[in-house]
Amino acid sequence: MLEIKNLHVKLEEEDKVILRGVDLKINAGEVHAIMGPNGAGKSTLSYVLSGRDGYEVTEGSAALEGEELLEMEPEERAAAGLFLAFQYPVEIPGVGNMTFLRTAANAQRKARGEEELSAGDFLKLVREKAKTLKIDAEMLKRPVNVGFSGGEKKRNEILQMAMLEPKLCVMDETDSGLDVDAMKLVAEGVNALRSEGRSFLVITHYQRLLDHIKPDFVHIMANGRIVKSGGPELALEVENNGYADILAEVQ
Ligand code: ADP
Ligand code: MG
Ligand code: MG
Repeated sequence: MLEIKNLHVKLEEEDKVILRGVDLKINAGEVHAIMGPNGAGKSTLSYVLSGRDGYEVTEGSAALEGEELLEMEPEERAAAGLFLAFQYPVEIPGVGNMTFLRTAANAQRKARGEEELSAGDFLKLVREKAKTLKIDAEMLKRPVNVGFSGGEKKRNEILQMAMLEPKLCVMDETDSGLDVDAMKLVAEGVNALRSEGRSFLVITHYQRLLDHIKPDFVHIMANGRIVKSGGPELALEVENNGYADILAEVQ
């Protein structure tokens, strides 16, 4: 699904190197988590995958189902099946959530060469997904994220993800101050959308999130590289002992 090879990234404006050779392979249906101390480069990795400006790839590659992502425009990446959930969802006053979801879902279908959904079919689909994700239909009528609580924004993000039917979801939950309830929402959403053909890369500071998600693999990132990989037990090790032991071991 995703294969990142020897990825090196620096800031465009400065001579500051952030990623120093990231290697990561995610197969279809797998859930991978990346943890690591502040400043390790975790968010940078998700930004580079999304195609955000300001970063320069100096070496390496990142392919989604064999297609080089790093050469695509951000919209092309989305069309190829990449979904990125970020810490701070945007509010869009004046645009109803339903309209937003329909426009996004139809743009995605068009990019995949599928027919657009009729108003009726869309309504049916969005209600179905909202129900599965335990989202109140009332939320669909409000402007996108305006006045939404933190938990509602999280639910909405998961609903967007469900409607776009991505192949790879990258979620950066670092530093977002997720409370326990919001964390459970994120985990429930991921668990509801897990499937054989869909993979997840969940970036998090919080071991607790992984109690609910149960990733197949856990990676520890430090100083711009993945320094250790393992199963869910690696997250428990971090919970119990912090990063110091792991970092000392790999140096
Ligand atoms: P993490 O998400 O693991 O905490 P980040 O990817 O946010 O790490 O940051 C990695 C390093 O790169 C940090 O030292 C951070 O200050 C620096 N960095 C990232 N983006 C920028 C930027 N746009 N300008 C300056 N420094 C940046
Ligand atoms: Mg940080
Ligand atoms: Mg971060």
